[in-house]
Amino acid sequence: MLTVEEAVEQILSRVEPLPTEWVDLEAALGRVLGEPVVSGRQIPPWPNSSMDGYALRSEDARAANASLRVVLQVAAGAVPSRAIGPGEAARIFTGAPVPPGADAVIPQEDVRVDGDCIVAARPVRAGDFVRAAGEDVRVGDAVLERGRPIGPPEIGMLATLGYSRVRVHRRPRVAILSTGDELAELGREPGPGQIPNSNTYALMAQVRETGADPVNLGVARDQREAIETRLGWGRSADVLLSSAGVSVGEFDFVKDALARLGATLHLWRVSMRPGKPIAFGSLGGRPVFGLPGNPVSAMVTFELFVRPALRKMAGHARLTRPTVPARALAPIPNPGSRRGFLRVTVTTDDGGYGVRLTGDQGSSILKSMVLADGLAIVAPDTTIEPGGAVEVILLR
Ligand code: AMP
Ligand code: MG
Repeated sequence: MLTVEEAVEQILSRVEPLPTEWVDLEAALGRVLGEPVVSGRQIPPWPNSSMDGYALRSEDARAANASLRVVLQVAAGAVPSRAIGPGEAARIFTGAPVPPGADAVIPQEDVRVDGDCIVAARPVRAGDFVRAAGEDVRVGDAVLERGRPIGPPEIGMLATLGYSRVRVHRRPRVAILSTGDELAELGREPGPGQIPNSNTYALMAQVRETGADPVNLGVARDQREAIETRLGWGRSADVLLSSAGVSVGEFDFVKDALARLGATLHLWRVSMRPGKPIAFGSLGGRPVFGLPGNPVSAMVTFELFVRPALRKMAGHARLTRPTVPARALAPIPNPGSRRGFLRVTVTTDDGGYGVRLTGDQGSSILKSMVLADGLAIVAPDTTIEPGGAVEVILLR
């Protein structure tokens, strides 16, 4: 059986970033840059004042109480009509260009106005309250790298650089199929022997949270043909994702259906708890995942295997969640021969991160997934005692 790392490596080696497309800057939030951004602009474009005050030549006001004649006013958006000479000052406002000749600004709080002159209450040094041309960005600066997720600061930077549209990777479209004769669709009261279909909705949410677009293929009954038909509907998607029907049970037809559609199976079964039966293959060049049916197994295997793949396809440079060292606040047992990815709450104090199991770790216990902030990684047949060190994947 493969380790989680081996499986992730194999999966990532078989997926590639999707092609790029142009989007309006206003629609770019959460997308991933498809090309590096090199500045064609100098920001700020010219020296400007960071305060409302007076622009002057610092050499005229090296000592306090210098008196200067105000010969000019420069508002934001204006262009100075002339230069500042010896003994002269310009009334200036925040963001207005510093007139030629001036090399400093004194804030208005620090001057006394005396007719058409000002008296500087304190000495002035060159550069005071002046934002130099290019102090933020210079022409030719490599400002943003390919693979960077676009958040509000990146949007601001791109706007400053004049990008009304930006080249980003296409968002993966992920077709999601649930399988099982026992599943009742949302909106219907489960009948005798039925349970609610929750995986479709949890997985669609995980897909969305990853920045990809889910397509719901509904529920297939436990029949090879039914599964084949619905998976066929997903051919226009970039990724196929099914849950349940991948163990060795008599009614587990997902692998057969995939084989009949022409998929190649690359791996099946990974040594982990929860999880274990996870199938990964490709169908016509697109990745196919067969996740386990138990709701927590489906979500945790999505986290560990599908999410990094979707992030790679979406163009991200960083594929996995942060992992941090933590201390156990109570015993964390992991009986059995498989590595545990156990649901924990994560708290912080002076000692760093502390983790505690959220409750029953059964692979169908969704409540302990709801309560989890992280997944603690625990070796097989091991109990982490209180105070013991443990790695934790931060989920939120
Ligand atoms: P299976 O892999 O088909 O043996 O399913 C394992 C367990 O997961 C069974 O208890 C199923 O009833 C349950 N299960 C499968 N699919 C879903 C689903 N879409 N939503 C909730 N539970 C499911
Ligand atoms: Mg089943």
